[in-house]
Amino acid sequence: MDKRFIKALEKARRGRLLQYDDILVLLSAGPQEQVELFTLADRVRRRYMGDEVHIRGIIEFSNYCVRQCCYCGLRAANTGVKRYRLSEEVIVHTAQKAYRLGYRTVVLQSGEDPYYSIERLARIIRRIKMETGLAVTMSVGERSFADYQRMREAGADRYLLKQETSDPVLFAKLRPQTILEDRVRCLKWLKELGFQIGSGNMVGLPGQTMETLVRDLVLMRELDVDMAGIGPFIPHPKTPLAGNPGGTLVMTLKVLAVARLIMPDVNFPATTALETIHSGGRKLALQCGANVIMPNITPVACRAHYSIYPNKAGTKEEPEECLCSINKLVGELGRKVSTGLGDRIKI
Ligand code: SAM
Ligand code: SF4
Repeated sequence: MDKRFIKALEKARRGRLLQYDDILVLLSAGPQEQVELFTLADRVRRRYMGDEVHIRGIIEFSNYCVRQCCYCGLRAANTGVKRYRLSEEVIVHTAQKAYRLGYRTVVLQSGEDPYYSIERLARIIRRIKMETGLAVTMSVGERSFADYQRMREAGADRYLLKQETSDPVLFAKLRPQTILEDRVRCLKWLKELGFQIGSGNMVGLPGQTMETLVRDLVLMRELDVDMAGIGPFIPHPKTPLAGNPGGTLVMTLKVLAVARLIMPDVNFPATTALETIHSGGRKLALQCGANVIMPNITPVACRAHYSIYPNKAGTKEEPEECLCSINKLVGELGRKVSTGLGDRIKI
C-alpha cells in the first residue's frame, strides 16, 4: 500500500482534520487500499451514527422544469418527456399514506416549476405538517430568500439543493444561466433560516477531475451540510451529455467513504442512482458510510415520467413493498430501520 495512503488513513482513524492532499490521496485509493478505506468509513458510520438506517420517502410531484441542465432528462428542451403535475390533494394524500405506513420523512421534489407558487407550496407543507408528524424536506431548486422563508414558516424542516459540482466553470457550462455562487448563496440562506441543509454532487461528470471531487467534498464540509447525496452521473440519451461515459460504482463509493471520514456525523443516503448503475449498489453504499435510503413513493403511474436519467431503479414498487424490501436489506446487514425522524445530531 502507498505510504501516503497509509498516513492519510491513519490521520482519519485518529479523527484529525483531513486536508486537501489527504483527501486526494484517499480518493486515489487502488483496489487493495479501497478495502481499508471502505472498512474505516463503515466503522466511523457505526461510531457516530449507530446502526439505524433512516428512510425518507420521496414524492416527485412535478416533472415540469424551466431549466436546461445539460445532464438532466427533465430539462425544458426535452420534448420527449410526458409532463405531469400532482395536485395538492394527491401530494398530501401520498404523504398521509406514507405516514400511516411508518415513514417519518417525506421529500417533496420537483423540477423548477413556477406553477407551484410559494402560496401553493406553503399550503401543502402546512397541511402535511398539521395532518401528520412527518419531517418535510423540500427540494424544488433555487428560489428567493423570501420563498425559502415562507417554506420554513410553513413548517418545512430540511432543504435539499445539491451543489452538483464545486467547479464554477463546469457548473456554468452544465447549468446554463445559473452560477455556482448563487447556488451556494441559496444554501447559506437556507442554513440561516434554520433548515437542515442537504447538498451533494454527481460523480463522473464530463470535465470533472480528481481535484474537482476533492473540492466538492471540501465545499460540503465548509457549508456544514447536514446531509449530502453523492451519486454517479448517469448520461441521459436526450440531453447534450448523451454518449458520455457516466460515473462508476467504485469511484462513487470512494467519494462516499471519504465524505463519511471528513463529515462523520452527517446523513448520507445510499442513492437510487448507484442502485441504477449497479444492482446491489445501495447495499454496498450502506457498507461504505451511508445511513439513509430514499425510496420513491410517488404514485406509480407517474414515476416513469420523472426520468432524470434512464432505467431508474425502484419505479414500480408501492410504498409498502419498498418498506418490506428495505427492511429485508437492512436486516441482512445486521442493522435496523429507524423509527425516528433522523435529524442530524451534530457532534
Ligand atoms: N430541480 C431540483 C434541482 O435541480 O435541485 C430538484 C430535482 S433534480 C432532478 C434532483 C437531482 O437529480 C439533482 O440535484 C441532480 O444531482 C440529479 N440528477 C439530474 N440529472 C442526473 C443525471 N443524469 N445523473 C445523475 N443525477 C442526476
Ligand atoms: Fe430542472 Fe433540476 Fe433537472 Fe436541472 S436538475 S433540469 S433544475 S429538474
